[in-house]
Amino acid sequence: MSHGVSSGNARLVSRSAQGRPSCVSLGETACIGDGHFLLVAGPCAVESREQLLASARAARDAGAGALRGGAFKPRTSPYDFQGLGAEGLLLLAEAREATGLPIVTEVLDPRDMPLVAEYADVIQIGSRNTQNYPLLREAGHARRPVLLKRGMSMTIREWLCAAEYIVSEGNSEVILCERGIRTFETATRHTLDLNAIPVLKALTHLPVMVDPSHGTGHAAYVPSMAKAAVAAGADGLLIEIHPDPRHALSDGAQSLDFPTFARLAHDIAHLRATLAPQRVRASI
Ligand code: PEP
Ligand code: MN
Repeated sequence: MSHGVSSGNARLVSRSAQGRPSCVSLGETACIGDGHFLLVAGPCAVESREQLLASARAARDAGAGALRGGAFKPRTSPYDFQGLGAEGLLLLAEAREATGLPIVTEVLDPRDMPLVAEYADVIQIGSRNTQNYPLLREAGHARRPVLLKRGMSMTIREWLCAAEYIVSEGNSEVILCERGIRTFETATRHTLDLNAIPVLKALTHLPVMVDPSHGTGHAAYVPSMAKAAVAAGADGLLIEIHPDPRHALSDGAQSLDFPTFARLAHDIAHLRATLAPQRVRASI
């Protein structure tokens, strides 16, 4: 192999395990991978009915194919807003009903998996939990696709092994999401590793998303890195938006307001249209 990295023991997710890249379906309306691009947007945390429904409509109107929102939030400090829990899941279901968008939401605790899987179209496993092996195995039994973030100190090989935990338990519907790694750089919250896109395309058949919101930590840098990810061959983007970012209960600094998100969604559609289909396919 010319790229010098192998997928190690991650056999089922390896590129050679399958003739074509995988396409993962979300609900009945969206899919990602093998040439299908997916834009996912929504607030970091579900805060209220008004905030979530406004975000869901803004996401849909700008052309997003799915809504994200955290009901269970993995906050660094135990004193920060932890999410609305089960009430947040009900609001997400209401937003799906109102907009038709499938919903993506995070599970933190293996004991909450049945509850989250009942409401979510896609289960998110966050950066802090990507080496929580009991949780990964539980996700392997859930009958829902899994959006698996990259751990912030995780190598690509470890990440593929984490995906292998889910797939080897019987759930082949896994989407990988690069969200930045820890480096010595402090000007941004994390360092968005766009290398991961072509590397993953070489190593695995799983779809690859990029989250420039957590990758940069600053709303001002999100559009540039979102477009860079698309140019590098990402199958989708995960973007945090908020009706009033300055007053968000979590991750306001990196959340786009609605007009900025609409402009970015437009630019992404334009960029995708100008990329020759052969070029998009060549990077897969
Ligand atoms: C999130 O998506 O809001 C989140 C907590 O992301 P990460 O796990 O990548 O930090
Ligand atoms: Mn967040």
